[in-house]
Amino acid sequence: MNYVIDFSEGSKEQADLLGGKGANLAEMTKLNLPVPTGFTITTQACLAYLEKKEQLSNKLEAQIKQHIQRMEERTKKTFGSAVNPLLVSVRSGSKFSMPGMMDTILNLGLNDETVLGLIEKTGDARFAYDCYRRLLQMFGDVVCGIDKNRFEEQLDFYKSKKNYRSDTDLMAEDWQALVSIYKDIFLEVTHHAFPQDPYEQLTLAVEAVFRSWNNRRAVTYRRLHDISDKLGTAVNIQEMVFGNFGSESGTGVAFTRNPATGEKGIFGEFLLNAQGEDVVAGIRTPQPISELENLMPEVYEKFLKLSGLLERHYKDMQDIEFTIENRQLYLLQTRNGKRTAKSAFKVCLQLVEEGIITKKEALQRINPTMITQLLHPVFEPEQLKQAEVFAKGLPASPGAANGKIYFTAEQAKKASEQGEKVILVRQETSPEDIEGMVVSEAIVTSRGGMTSHAAVVARGMGVCCVAGCEEIYVDEFLEQATVGDVTLRQGDTISVDGTTGTIYRGSIPYVQGDEWQLLETVTNWGKEMSRIDVKANAETPADIKMALKLGAQGIGLARTEHMFFGEQRIFEMRKMILAEDEPSLLAPLHKLKEFQKEDFRTMFELLKDKPCTIRLLDPPLHEFLPQTEEEIIHLANETERTVGQIKHRIAELHEQNPMLGHRGCRLAITTPQIYEMQAAAIIESAMAVSQEIGLTVVPEIMIPLIGSKEEMAWLRERLVQTVQQIFEEKQQIIPYKIGTMLEIPRACLTADEIAETADFFSFGTNDLTQLTYGFSRDDSVKFIGAYEERKLLKADPFQHIDEEGVGVLMKIAVEKIRKYDPKIKIGVCGEVGGDPQSIRFLQKIGVDYVSCSPYRIPAAILTIAQESA
Ligand code: PEP
Ligand code: MG
Repeated sequence: MNYVIDFSEGSKEQADLLGGKGANLAEMTKLNLPVPTGFTITTQACLAYLEKKEQLSNKLEAQIKQHIQRMEERTKKTFGSAVNPLLVSVRSGSKFSMPGMMDTILNLGLNDETVLGLIEKTGDARFAYDCYRRLLQMFGDVVCGIDKNRFEEQLDFYKSKKNYRSDTDLMAEDWQALVSIYKDIFLEVTHHAFPQDPYEQLTLAVEAVFRSWNNRRAVTYRRLHDISDKLGTAVNIQEMVFGNFGSESGTGVAFTRNPATGEKGIFGEFLLNAQGEDVVAGIRTPQPISELENLMPEVYEKFLKLSGLLERHYKDMQDIEFTIENRQLYLLQTRNGKRTAKSAFKVCLQLVEEGIITKKEALQRINPTMITQLLHPVFEPEQLKQAEVFAKGLPASPGAANGKIYFTAEQAKKASEQGEKVILVRQETSPEDIEGMVVSEAIVTSRGGMTSHAAVVARGMGVCCVAGCEEIYVDEFLEQATVGDVTLRQGDTISVDGTTGTIYRGSIPYVQGDEWQLLETVTNWGKEMSRIDVKANAETPADIKMALKLGAQGIGLARTEHMFFGEQRIFEMRKMILAEDEPSLLAPLHKLKEFQKEDFRTMFELLKDKPCTIRLLDPPLHEFLPQTEEEIIHLANETERTVGQIKHRIAELHEQNPMLGHRGCRLAITTPQIYEMQAAAIIESAMAVSQEIGLTVVPEIMIPLIGSKEEMAWLRERLVQTVQQIFEEKQQIIPYKIGTMLEIPRACLTADEIAETADFFSFGTNDLTQLTYGFSRDDSVKFIGAYEERKLLKADPFQHIDEEGVGVLMKIAVEKIRKYDPKIKIGVCGEVGGDPQSIRFLQKIGVDYVSCSPYRIPAAILTIAQESA
């Protein structure tokens, strides 16, 4: 088995085998770009190593050796040579990028002898010892698990002893002394001397990178991003180039477009005289890339040219790592850049405009879940004017948040578990902080730039972040943050504006932000390409307006019970429920009808010619009855009854199992007047809008909780009679439909029979799941978590459709209905109708539309477009 592939042999299509980084290094090599030479050890080698109880096979070791020899030939340097040493970097790289989650070692190959060779070759002892001490530190950390702080403490101690302020004050002999101090730390912790044999260093490093696939932070990251544990990581071995080789060297990271806003143009930063890890780890705050133009214009020009070439080649915004060694530019990595939702949308639109990709390709690139991030919150402008600024930093990830500050990931996590809104404030973050970052409303760091760990991770998660806020002195030990004479302590409240980079004292309320324009363009493209419609579950004017703004193609579910909750309405409702005979039922019904007519009219006017499905009353009546003593007394007084009588009626309506009790169509079997009133209100308002403003409304009246053809036929008959009567009275006829929901398993199994009297169907997957699994939709939160943890359930079936159970019932129903009449419309209006993962399944079984809450509409449209294409 070939476990090692040279950069010159691979290509970008091989990310499975070479990891993302390796595949792109190979691709860039193929394009003849200035990439230091090297090779990739495949993910299969990693999996084999982890499987074989973590032992590197002889075969793999031999292949690595062979490839090192090929590198020696190409570079004319020798691994382990005291004259002209070849030094390499060892970097992890899995199929999906997991920034900073796994490990990297630079300057590998240095030892007490080769360091002399490096001095000899470069004439720069300061540089060579600096490289050596970095190797000791990284190797110690990654391979042997020595706490990085052990080294940092010694460096700080050394500097203070010598009165040095910054690392640049250290001379060759200082770094040399530190090399020896670091070696002592190594010996003390591991009880072994630092390995001098470069091949031994390499083997240990490769093994450590393989093992890092299973370290805690990598596992957490994968859970969070739904990445499989079975992929393994590749390892890239590459000739070192040195960004820390004096003031004409440097290293940086740049995006070909702005990853936060999507704006076109190079966006990035670099550090002079530094090695790659310094930028990514956010240890020093870098300069914007535009300054490179002043310092080394020819390098800047070349970078612009190459980054443009890469963007066109990959047809996407690139995130490029580069190093400059003595004014020589090298590319160390390119990948499709991680970006905010806003940037992702903008870049897609630009690439379509520039003719680089098609609309179809653009839609495929947008992840439906990003839409939720698109509409970021912003602070209320009036409140913002009065707010007190605490500090300013870099606007690393947009959004607005407020919360209590915590200085360690652990404390943040604890506070969040107790229900607090937390903001993580740190000098800089590292992958170890991931669990604290995930629970934070916002992240603030005092060091590091726009591409630091905090910034990249926060953007990925859509969490607001201000990075590199250097004016804040963050003391993680004393748990306080100070600017001038203001000190904030753990638990104090701040507000963070990730869009401007400003931090305020106290809590500022925020409102949802909007990027309607971007969203509209994309949803319109989506609609052009979709084969099925997306409607809204909405009934209030505000929700309907929002739904239409977000692209709804109609209303798929208007729950009429939501219209009975105004003070006056509920009072009439209660009167209706208390009625003992037909005459006392009529007065409140009449009032309720007037309310409903008003509501339906508004709905029709807002929807114009779009379809509208109105569901008749569904919940058990006791839900409308008063709960408190005070309310009961009030109702008794208003209806001239005694408190005892009201309590008696409440007791009468009590049910042991209301979800399976007197609700849905069963209410109308016992009291048909309710549905008759609702149907009349629907038809009369539709007639009114057609007559007065010329709208052609075809109202769809939907009966809930039907379980048999007998129920459906009986109720349909009653409603048709009601409608006929209105037609006769008004001497006007309008088209309308009467259909039902499919939310009882029996209804699915007999759907063809029900279809005899139903004009349309809509799956109510909430009840259907409840009744198929026997999980109460109101109580299952108490145990579903345990099911998921014990892997007894793949996912909560109320959130993602249960394909094997509920899904099969749905399939049966669709087949039976289509067999009876292929033209009958079938929709889905349960919660899963707005869940991208479920929508893919629903589309496959052949439903005609999905209906969901307004904010889920754009993601649903996009998912359908992606599946339809
Ligand atoms: C359903 O049961 O899926 C449904 C849409 O109706 P409701 O949630 O109102 O019961
Ligand atoms: Mg239901």
